[in-house]
Amino acid sequence: MAQPAYAVPIAEPAAECPRCRAPNITGGIFCDRCNLYLRDESLSVERASYTRRIFGSYLLEQLLFWVTLIVGWFIWLAFTAPRGRSPAKSLTSLYVINIETGRTASGGEMWLREFALKGLTMFLIGYMIPFLFLADAFWMFFDRDRQTLHDKILKQIVVYAPAGLPESMRPQPGAPRKYAAVYAWPWQSTSAAASAPARVTDVAADLRELTRLKDEGLITAEEFEEKRAALVEKM
Ligand SMILES: [Zn+2]
Repeated sequence: MAQPAYAVPIAEPAAECPRCRAPNITGGIFCDRCNLYLRDESLSVERASYTRRIFGSYLLEQLLFWVTLIVGWFIWLAFTAPRGRSPAKSLTSLYVINIETGRTASGGEMWLREFALKGLTMFLIGYMIPFLFLADAFWMFFDRDRQTLHDKILKQIVVYAPAGLPESMRPQPGAPRKYAAVYAWPWQSTSAAASAPARVTDVAADLRELTRLKDEGLITAEEFEEKRAALVEKM
């Protein structure tokens, strides 16, 4: 089936780091030795360090939020979001990448991430259940690809690219902006995946049964052909 250019599936992470030649033992999307983003052919995009994420993104964001009197931060986010960045990330060479498209998160995904998920959910609920607030951020210390919980939910990673992103990772005109196009709820993906093969298997079993009946002489050749054609049509 012809797929639009933005939907081209991204390659599996390399088995060996193209920059430092370390084997990719964990199957992660970053090199564990030199931090290279293994899907990046320009060999310049890296995994964001803990320091950069905690101080250069998280804490700096809080500072900018209050220093700009909140309103300023929202206006700033309106400019940075379409490029997969928040105000703090735009000052510290960080980008949010959607792991399914391999490109920067769309503006909608950034608003959902920075405002709805991190801002409202984690911040407000975090005051009531402090553990949730901490678990979100601390998750990255135990995660292979250094994803926080909000990264996991939105299927995102944070990369460090001081020289900017290569063309293949930048936003592409015409790509879907809607968050729903990327994310499927668990029940959506399972029902669609499970129902289709099950039906084919059912038809195959019916065909085998039909062949057995014919072989044992229980139905005529005409009856067999007629029923077989009906079954094939069902597929
Ligand atoms: Zn490496």
